[in-house]
Amino acid sequence: MSESPAFKAIVVGSGPAGLTAAIYLSRANVPNLLFEGQQPGGQLTITTDVENYPGFPEGITGPELMVRMRAQAERFGTVIKGESVEEVDLSARPYRVRTNAGEYTAPAVIIASGSTARWLHLPDEESFHGKGLSACATCDGFFFRGQEIAVVGGGDTALEEANYLTNFASKVTLIHRRDELRGSKIMQDRALANPKITVAWNSVPSKYLSDDNGNLRGLLLKDTAGGPDRELAVTGCFIAIGHTPNTAFLNGQLPTDPSGYLVTTPGTTSVGVPGVYACGDVQDHVYRQAITSAGTGCMAAIEAERWLGEHGL
Ligand code: NDP
Repeated sequence: MSESPAFKAIVVGSGPAGLTAAIYLSRANVPNLLFEGQQPGGQLTITTDVENYPGFPEGITGPELMVRMRAQAERFGTVIKGESVEEVDLSARPYRVRTNAGEYTAPAVIIASGSTARWLHLPDEESFHGKGLSACATCDGFFFRGQEIAVVGGGDTALEEANYLTNFASKVTLIHRRDELRGSKIMQDRALANPKITVAWNSVPSKYLSDDNGNLRGLLLKDTAGGPDRELAVTGCFIAIGHTPNTAFLNGQLPTDPSGYLVTTPGTTSVGVPGVYACGDVQDHVYRQAITSAGTGCMAAIEAERWLGEHGL
């Protein structure tokens, strides 16, 4: 076992929530170990410019922001390992955390494993990231001012993003695979009443179309009701077909809501197991912003530090 008994807290995840938790733990002199996971830096590393994170009036790229947060955590003493957590045993303290490379223990665990945006998995999908394809309207909508764009999905996220994107785009086509939306009635009414939104019913993108520079110029749409394929000219496409919270390594040890997000006691990051906290997108399907993730990461660290102190740990 590659265990170091010196660690008082283990942080699972390296997005804004995990790294902020680590910064606060280290500055409070709580020895902590952070596992970066499969996508070091989290979802921000697949966005381009971040213009809504306070303190960067000229904007900052997602990867650069995460490099800075990581450096800040290391500066104060967080030990960062590029390992992925595969299993956590919360049945007895100290809690055991098994990664792809070893096993570790600590009396407190902060879960900041994030969520993964679902993609369509069409050919060449990754090559369009940052070239017209996005999974975050709040992050990237601003770049599509005056352009015709599409949103894929029929749930609340798609409806909310379609509405939001009409602040920038000249036209938004909502592409939904059925003839009935899944989202709530109020969100449906709002989207359907918006003059800038048109719905492409019974449709799914089957191919991303590229211009000579590799930027998105359109989508090939398949008619799920059996009609002919058609092309839709758009320079932006937002995939909003849901997120999957990254909780598989917990093996059902913590309560989740029906969508799989960890449940925390309102106003706290407590998951109901002493010394265990959850922050960021793994427990938040509403805001999903870097700044809110960082905020809950801070909360988790403060709660963990207090709990450790109260228990003489
Ligand atoms: P949902 O799972 O609710 O909706 C996903 C949508 O994507 C569905 O319309 C689904 O189609 C479609 N979809 C899924 N896979 C594919 C695919 N491969 N190809 C094409 N379409 C696909 O996810 P959301 O992210 O919208 O919402 C998650 C949760 O968060 C919900 O509980 C929602 O209510 C909540 N939420 C609440 C908000 C609010 O209250 N303001 C805002 C955003 C989310 P189909 O309908 O055919 O299954």
